[in-house]
Amino acid sequence: MIPAPFTYQRASSLDEALELAAQGGDGAKFLAGGHSLLPLMKLRLAVPETLVDIGRLGDLRYIRDDGSHIAVGALSTHADLAASGLLRSDLPLLAHAAGQVGDPQVRHRGTIGGSLAHADPAADLPAVILALGATLVVTGPSGSREIGAGEFFTGLFETALQPGELLTEIRIPRPQPGGWSFQKFTKRAIDWAIVGAVVQGGSVALVNMGSTPLRASAVERAVASGAGPRDAAAHAADGSSPPADLNASSGYREHLARVLVARALAEARTRA
Ligand code: FAD
Repeated sequence: MIPAPFTYQRASSLDEALELAAQGGDGAKFLAGGHSLLPLMKLRLAVPETLVDIGRLGDLRYIRDDGSHIAVGALSTHADLAASGLLRSDLPLLAHAAGQVGDPQVRHRGTIGGSLAHADPAADLPAVILALGATLVVTGPSGSREIGAGEFFTGLFETALQPGELLTEIRIPRPQPGGWSFQKFTKRAIDWAIVGAVVQGGSVALVNMGSTPLRASAVERAVASGAGPRDAAAHAADGSSPPADLNASSGYREHLARVLVARALAEARTRA
């Protein structure tokens, strides 16, 4: 499949990226790792007139300790996250989950910013970021603003990003005491999650159980009131609206959510 014609422009700074995007107007899109956007363009499900390549903005590729939180630049690749010593010691959930994304080729090109901005409900990192209570920093022509992860994902492949705004940094608070777990159910190791479950302390989030990543609030309430993993996980599908597709019916996804959340809560206890 061949994409529709488009203009390609490579930005060499954040300011230039914002300026090129503003010039391109509604027809402009940022290109990071290209692992989600280019397949859509080849299928002509995305038809941008201008691609603003941000892939070489090295200033947005970092993982650093900022005291009360860890700051991750949006251009950090999944492989960067998986290999980061800081994340492996202080935020092991994120390092581990990033290491489960796709295959090595995907992990070396795909970026955390691209994954969050793309907002595929079957993606792993959006649910992880939700469970971690991260804050997303976005920068546009009129400056920067912060958006809580809970407000960022607004619908299927939709976010709170305005046209021309770039996701620049993800700020993740140091987790409260408590263990963590990431459970991903796939047919093959490299596949997207049919369903996924994320636990960090008392926070529980779900992958592919609705049009956005979801907090499993009923499970969180049950855990807070002292329920054990199996009893709490019985509520995993409450309030969700899982899709039905060739991989699974909605009912099977609801069953998977209960099983995976029970496993995740039990595993998290062993790491507390
Ligand atoms: P791009 O494709 O470059 O961009 C995606 C979208 O985000 C575009 O709309 C773009 O304009 C926008 N964008 C990118 N960066 C920014 C930014 N900083 N600010 C604002 N907008 C931005 N993901 C999983 O979670 N789990 C998997 O198991 C998985 N398996 C995969 C398997 C394959 C074979 C492939 C091709 C992809 C897979 N992915 C998976 C997706 C992968 O993680 C992508 O890399 C990621 O979703 C998008 O990141 P990217 O940097 O490639 O973004």
